[in-house]
Amino acid sequence: MPLAPYAADPVRSRGRRVHEPPTQGRTEFQRDRDRIVHSGAFRRLEYKTQVFVNHEGDMFRTRLTHSIEVAQIARSIARQLGLNEDLVEAVSLAHDLGHTPFGHAGQDALNECMRPWGGFEHNVQSLRVVDRLEQRYGAFDGLNLSFETREGILKHCSVENARRLGDVGERFLMGRRPSLEAQIANLADEIAYNNHDVDDGLRSGLLSLRQLDEVELFERHAAEVRHEFPGIAARRMIHETVRRMINELVLDLVAETRRRVREAAPDSVDAVRSAPALAAFSAPMRERSNQLKHFLTGNLYRHYRVTRMTAKARRVVCELFEAFAAEPRLLPPDHQAADPEQRPRVIADYIAGMTDRYAIREHRRLFALDET
Ligand code: MG
Repeated sequence: MPLAPYAADPVRSRGRRVHEPPTQGRTEFQRDRDRIVHSGAFRRLEYKTQVFVNHEGDMFRTRLTHSIEVAQIARSIARQLGLNEDLVEAVSLAHDLGHTPFGHAGQDALNECMRPWGGFEHNVQSLRVVDRLEQRYGAFDGLNLSFETREGILKHCSVENARRLGDVGERFLMGRRPSLEAQIANLADEIAYNNHDVDDGLRSGLLSLRQLDEVELFERHAAEVRHEFPGIAARRMIHETVRRMINELVLDLVAETRRRVREAAPDSVDAVRSAPALAAFSAPMRERSNQLKHFLTGNLYRHYRVTRMTAKARRVVCELFEAFAAEPRLLPPDHQAADPEQRPRVIADYIAGMTDRYAIREHRRLFALDET
């Protein structure tokens, strides 16, 4: 399928922060994706989690498998809409690079600690990873990604950060949208985590099938599956149901986005940026997706066993931050800041880069007398 006129075109990219000549055999967005896959932060996603902490079991999603699922869903949507698949893939694979260990609990804790110094936002941190923190190239810090990939990575940010971030921050000040590729990657993220959290929630035993009957989207497909395959084993039933849910969400998103695109008729990616949000679920599907999200918040993310783990995770992150802030010489040599004003941010970068298990080990090394 040829690229739609409103798709992001790598030949017309707004470019990289440091100019680089084009490379042979790959477009600029393919090159971005390849740099992301080869980065250290991407590999560390394997040992970072969202809901379940890494050592709780090998069967749960990690941020790495989550990012791959987002990329898969986003690419299949992009292809149906004639969008640039390489760009949605790059944005999807990079979208969680700035996440702290222990998912949202870790991010909230670090944000608290960093409050006097501008706070901590994981989206801004993902951008910071690709703009500065990865140190692999001779000519520049970071991965020197194209504007379009960076624009997609920065999903949200505060007004203060938007002012500071230059070109990619502008749209938050002007009330504009990013490319359709970025909008699709964002919704693919929602489809991926809602559905895999149902799957992981059931697998962990924190959610039960009976509870899920109150979620319309789940209940309808589950009933169909049971009808089609009487006596089907529970695990297969769950997978059959989840895959049908993902499919319905994807098809709805494609249809509604097509409808909005037809109506707004954008003739370029810049027209997409000035139009109202073009990628969206239909109103009934938006409601169903929200219902699922609320169900997960109430029943999984606030489950007492998850709450216990997140309370522990918060404590680990806060205690690490306080220990390093009180005694910066505890930091490894390549994380020491010469300028004392830079210190809190450098500590936040160090902690945010940790995997779950590294943070636990580092905490033990600092606080247990029998550890070195
Ligand atoms: Mg995500």
